[in-house]
Amino acid sequence: MPHVVTQSCCADASCVFACPVNCIHPTPDEPDFGTASMLYIDPDSCVDCGACVGACPVGAITAASRLTPDQQPFELLNAAYFEQPAPRPLQAPVPTLVRRQSTAPVSVAVVGSGPAGMFTVEELLKHADVRVTVLERLTEPFGLARFGVAPDHPRTREVVRLFDRLLSDPRVTLVTGQEVDDAGLRDLQARHDAVVLATGASHDRLLGLPGEDLPGVHGARPLVAWYNGHPDHRDDAPDLSTERVVVVGQGNVALDVARILTRDPERLADTDISPAALAALRTSAVTEVVVVGRRGPVGAAFSVSELVGLAGLPDVDVVVDPDDLADAVPPTTEEQVRVELLRDLAARERRPGTRAVRLVFGAEPVEVRGDDRVRGLRLRSRGGDELLIETGLVVRSVGYAVPARPGTSVAPHGGLHHDAGRALSDAGLPNGLYVVGWTKRGPRGQLGTNRACARETVNSVVRDLNRSVVERSA
Ligand code: NAP
Repeated sequence: MPHVVTQSCCADASCVFACPVNCIHPTPDEPDFGTASMLYIDPDSCVDCGACVGACPVGAITAASRLTPDQQPFELLNAAYFEQPAPRPLQAPVPTLVRRQSTAPVSVAVVGSGPAGMFTVEELLKHADVRVTVLERLTEPFGLARFGVAPDHPRTREVVRLFDRLLSDPRVTLVTGQEVDDAGLRDLQARHDAVVLATGASHDRLLGLPGEDLPGVHGARPLVAWYNGHPDHRDDAPDLSTERVVVVGQGNVALDVARILTRDPERLADTDISPAALAALRTSAVTEVVVVGRRGPVGAAFSVSELVGLAGLPDVDVVVDPDDLADAVPPTTEEQVRVELLRDLAARERRPGTRAVRLVFGAEPVEVRGDDRVRGLRLRSRGGDELLIETGLVVRSVGYAVPARPGTSVAPHGGLHHDAGRALSDAGLPNGLYVVGWTKRGPRGQLGTNRACARETVNSVVRDLNRSVVERSA
């Protein structure tokens, strides 16, 4: 029986390098690595050695024979990936690490200690003479790994163990409670050989709809931060006195929010959820969360692995209108798995007294309705019909935004303009700063996507250091 990658996959590719037969894909040098929502094990090539199990930092890999009934779709999902024709390299490739050409000590500042910052630290520590200072605005490190991952995904949170190990390296200094403003950034550049910006996407994108400013419209970012106990968001409790919540957007953040608002609070009690959020959920009036997406079921932004996880919850019903699936033509085998699962959900009986997540496809929000507060959300279907969903709480979950820094600007992909991690000025020239993670790529990708991203940025740092050594000695 082969091994299988399951829901908590962070896609950092540790397993790819551990696998002796190169059966885990996409690998970091394959085109779909940056966009894959998870990695997959080829059941035909897997020799069942289990090397990947120990390498995975988040416990996502298990033997097929040990899958729980709710995890069974992952066996199909792993196999489905390999039904698409793609040339596969024979051996797991090791991305080229650019070596330093000098042993003179260098110091690098990394601004932000979230996953992008910490994978950058990991890459920097591969060079013996590098000292790293990590600057973190909050009093606790690890950013989204601590304050962004849903509390009912404890395995994903296990990545902080790896980060803790990195911080215990004597070459690393962590400075917490240190906000780096624009002047601070210039000061860091004067004191370090390189400065890497890993501050992520700290703003919510807006809908730009009439009524969006009404009380009762809540951003997903502060809501997620609130239930994770983020110190800046203790007062961002949503008003849970409404029976129906509408979440706009169908990304994985939207599913996280919908799950946390509908799960039996007693099942969250043993997680890292903030005590205040747990108390609020225990008295919540919410019975249904409607998750609205403008696309159809094929191509909706949530990943299939998260849908599998949602569909398997014992305490939440997932409601799908079979009419939404009537014309669904899945172009890939993975999309087929998604649509089959949605069909299965559409056919399920509701369990009396169970809270529900309702997925609504092909509906564009056009107006937030209300008076002194939100009363509803008006939607337009692809056929042009209009529909009003009554609600007292609209959660906007349409992605995050990266703020620009002086001398940089935001590119169409949502991150700052850059060349292999070198931030670029408006004139398209490197401005001396380096970027990584969402600051570089825009707000997309799994936690582990940052590992290959950090390798690229650190390679650029090292290339530039090597060049300055050559120039000094010329
Ligand atoms: P996302 O995946 O980009 O999803 C954004 C959603 O908002 C999409 O459904 C998008 O629709 C919709 N949207 C955007 N603008 C809209 C508008 N004006 N009106 C209506 N809908 C609009 O973003 P995210 O959910 O914030 O997630 C960010 C990244 O973190 C993603 O890569 C995600 O996979 C990752 N993440 C992963 C996990 C996990 O693996 N468990 C958990 C959380 C986050 P369109 O698709 O039509 O553009």
